[in-house]
Amino acid sequence: MRIAVIAHDGKKAEMVQFLMKNRSFFLDKEVQLVSTGTTGQHALDAGLQVERVASGPLGGDAQIAAQITEGTVHMVLFFRDPLGKHPHEVDVSMLMRICDVHNIPLATNPSTATALLKSIS
Ligand code: PGA
Repeated sequence: MRIAVIAHDGKKAEMVQFLMKNRSFFLDKEVQLVSTGTTGQHALDAGLQVERVASGPLGGDAQIAAQITEGTVHMVLFFRDPLGKHPHEVDVSMLMRICDVHNIPLATNPSTATALLKSIS
């Protein structure tokens, strides 16, 4: 299973914390992580294994959406910052729409992400 992980700037620390907490789960289940550029760099710095695409504002969300369409991403964990303004809001909406088009589980906060991981445990 390949899971995309993305976090807005205000949520990156929470995302790294979440990934660290679930690190052995990802290893046990042979989950591959793919991430937008900056989120991925934070995860790499924390010692996690993750493949990176471009940074979100530079098209990374669009790349993840394309991978969903191609069938190579099976779940999306996107920790959005509801209090921030984002230049690539249209890409974020597009990514969420593509999740719905392809019936891909999408979590936008850590509680839902935890529930989703339980669903595949
Ligand atoms: P980033 O992109 O990981 O490159 O910061 C995330 C986003 O879509 O805001």
